[in-house]
Amino acid sequence: MKDPAGMKASLGKEVNRIVILVAVSVAVCLALRSIWPLVAGLSLYIIWSTRQLFALYAWLVREEHTEPPDSVGLWGEFYTRLEHLFQKERRAQDNLQSIIVRAQQSVNALEDVVVLIDQHGYLEYWNHAAGRHLGFRADKDLGQPLTNLIRHPRFTDYLTQGDFREPLEIPSPVDDNRILQLRITEFGVGDQLILARDVTRIHHLEQMRKDFVANVSHELKTPLTVLKGYLETLLDTVPEEQTRLRRALTQMDAQSQRMEALVQDLLLLSRLENTEADNLQQAVAVHGMLQRMRESALALAPEKQQTIELDVPENARLIANPAELESAFGNLIVNAVKYTPAHGVIRIHWWQDADGAHLSVRDNGIGIDPAHIPRLTERFYRPDNSRVTQTGGTGLGLAIVKHVMIRHNGKLEIKSELGSGSNFTCHFPASRLVSKPTALASG
Ligand code: ADP
Repeated sequence: MKDPAGMKASLGKEVNRIVILVAVSVAVCLALRSIWPLVAGLSLYIIWSTRQLFALYAWLVREEHTEPPDSVGLWGEFYTRLEHLFQKERRAQDNLQSIIVRAQQSVNALEDVVVLIDQHGYLEYWNHAAGRHLGFRADKDLGQPLTNLIRHPRFTDYLTQGDFREPLEIPSPVDDNRILQLRITEFGVGDQLILARDVTRIHHLEQMRKDFVANVSHELKTPLTVLKGYLETLLDTVPEEQTRLRRALTQMDAQSQRMEALVQDLLLLSRLENTEADNLQQAVAVHGMLQRMRESALALAPEKQQTIELDVPENARLIANPAELESAFGNLIVNAVKYTPAHGVIRIHWWQDADGAHLSVRDNGIGIDPAHIPRLTERFYRPDNSRVTQTGGTGLGLAIVKHVMIRHNGKLEIKSELGSGSNFTCHFPASRLVSKPTALASG
């Protein structure tokens, strides 16, 4: 209590009052030689205290705790103190209320969408932008399941999978022409905060870039085919003794083949970026596919006399797009061959566990400085440019692998040390394992 001295004084007065009452009553009792004056005195005190108690109760149950009833002594002190306490609580509540109102005003002023959903996926709160971009209605949608209001299949999958490391882009439910980027953050016990923003402009720019690359690559295909055709004809017709001309033509032929590989990889990448991921999904017999790849890899550089071990269960199956899987695995295996010197050992290993299926391609080749690993899947990123001329790669192989893995809800893990080999592992989620007999694609 703030004023213990005041409280003590009131308590003292009240005790005095009782003592005086009892003393006077006892004196009268002695004078009259009867107990009744004392009984009457005490009864009066009890009646007065009970009335005070009722008055206190009536005051407490009132909505507003202002203007306490008149009272004296300890009771008066009670009222004053209770009134102070109520005033303090009212001020704290008003403060809290104004903080909440300001927070709501600022969240409502945001251009970005803010939505709160509870652990069962029901809408708890949203700001004005959510009304504009997602079409939520203040009067009807509170407490509705979020998936009833945002029905895009990609959003439902995203919520079900619960992996929110990457944002999701979907068309706005109120306007197909607008693209929203959603981010989900979990907090509390299963509650979720959804932030969304309009990324239509960035999306269009990105789409223009993709279309441009796809169109240029496509347009380059025909002139390249013509050039290659003429080069082959010339190489067939130019006599052996014209060595300088033959050397020039051979180099032109090699470079045109490189350009063709580049165009093919660019086209494949734009296909991976521009098409929906769920096309042509089937149970792929991985063993047969990897066995064929192993044979092609051995034929790639027979002079290196490398060993390629295959440790893949014969019944390994994966729900996947076989052509995309072949591109991804093919790139990893070809890289292992390219970046492993003669007599090196490459091991292709497939295994399954509770987390899903995993394919690792490990080699004991030249390895990569770990500092470069985070950027390795970027297009044309090469840790060492001198390797380009030696290996003739397109610089797009790992970007393709990364995209294929994203489209299969998996991820690519890279471990390597300079000089002591590399290990590229593709992790696929358990949902891609084949649990019941399905028609098989051998890839
Ligand atoms: P590239 O056509 O250059 O091989 P990739 O995207 O396939 O393009 O690979 C990018 C770079 O990663 C390569 O240039 C190479 O430096 C490095 N790299 C990829 N695989 C391996 C490997 N198995 N061992 C060593 N370095 C590798």
